[in-house]
Amino acid sequence: MRLSRSLLPTLKETPAEAQIVSHRLMLRAGLVRQTASGIYAWLPAGYRVLHNIARIVREEQDAIGAQELLMPTIQPAELWRESGRYEGYGKEMLRIRDRHDRELLYGPTNEEMITDLFRQSVRSYRELPQSVYHIQWKFRDEVRPRFGVMRGREFLMKDAYSFDIDQAGAVLSYRRMMLSYMRSFQRLGLQAIPMAADTGPIGGDLSHEFIILAPTGESQVFFDAAFEEIDYSQGGFDARSPEDLARFYGLMTSHYAATDEKHDAAAFAALAPERRREGRGIEVGHIFYFGTKYSRAMNFSVTTADGSSVHPEMGSYGIGVSRLVGAVIEASHDEAGIIWPDAIAPFRAALLNLKPGDAACDGLCESLYARLGGAALYDDREERAGVKFNDADLLGHPWQIIVGPRGATAGKVELKRRASGAREELSPEAALAKILG
Ligand code: ATP
Ligand code: MG
Repeated sequence: MRLSRSLLPTLKETPAEAQIVSHRLMLRAGLVRQTASGIYAWLPAGYRVLHNIARIVREEQDAIGAQELLMPTIQPAELWRESGRYEGYGKEMLRIRDRHDRELLYGPTNEEMITDLFRQSVRSYRELPQSVYHIQWKFRDEVRPRFGVMRGREFLMKDAYSFDIDQAGAVLSYRRMMLSYMRSFQRLGLQAIPMAADTGPIGGDLSHEFIILAPTGESQVFFDAAFEEIDYSQGGFDARSPEDLARFYGLMTSHYAATDEKHDAAAFAALAPERRREGRGIEVGHIFYFGTKYSRAMNFSVTTADGSSVHPEMGSYGIGVSRLVGAVIEASHDEAGIIWPDAIAPFRAALLNLKPGDAACDGLCESLYARLGGAALYDDREERAGVKFNDADLLGHPWQIIVGPRGATAGKVELKRRASGAREELSPEAALAKILG
């Protein structure tokens, strides 16, 4: 993308309405703009990040055999009357009437709709287990939308649903999903910790929240340092093996971890002092096992091997995809701006032309830009070098290639690594090799 032709409205001033660093930086870097309270437009650079996060989450869902589908945002009230949640959900639900006066709602979650879809077509135990997911916008009319995309009213969620024939199968689905979550967060450069949680309006028996640490988090969290040492991508966990899943789940639940709501001060105090960790946390995911709550209420049953019928055991599993954009920034920034993990950066590199109009600079930049393709944001604007440096730091691309007139003539560029600030002078070829690595 050429910056001179991009909708990338960076701000020098700190917007007054933003209370936390990720919100400030998302506005200043031109990633999002608020269009109504708690509702945001994703501008091109921000949308790339959102897309990259969704891609990683999708890959890790596919890897455990969950099937992607897409359910609509608008749902009929009728389904929610069947489950008994229509009245109970309260003011967070956006209720709508169409021209025929039929009652609709903008989905805050999809347990009812997925149960309806399964009951329409799945009849036999032979068709289970199955897991499905979608990545879709939700609406919850939060009392106090705040912190930008972290607590929006419209937000993007990955929500998955599992259907099993019995409790033992459902527990495996739950553990498999937890493994997929830990792998997703690790790939996003985040250290997430699963913490036992209350089940809330979803209802049910077993639930974990996934918390990442950040000073601006909404809850106080306590955990064992053991979580800092686990590598989920390795660790030899095969998501298809019940034994591996049991070992993984054991590892996740045998170390102390709790939010303030569930904190047990005595158990925490029993840890060796050097293993006690305490801080603020942001909830980026939440998983639930709730048995037959919806399948029973909505009359979904399948036949079993002996000819009787059962209500399938269900779970639901959410990741806050749009909240993660803010959460990653909370976890990875400095005074100058965002520091994107390589895996989700909007662009791998900023290409800074320090003297547009200079034949050597223009020539070298154009050839680098052609080689980098979509991986680069080319700063071709008629601006002072200082402005370009500041914007590149603010936007947080992992690499910056700096092309000035002296270097361009000598066949050299400067390469800066955003995270460490390390700079080196090298040939354009060597710079490309490092960036495209
Ligand atoms: P919270 O406790 O933060 O209000 P929740 O428990 O109501 O969240 P869930 O129903 O568990 O949320 O939704 C799954 C995930 O969706 C959450 O873990 C969170 O990452 C994300 N999420 C929930 N509400 C919002 C929101 N208002 N804005 C952005 N993301 C949200
Ligand atoms: Mg939750």
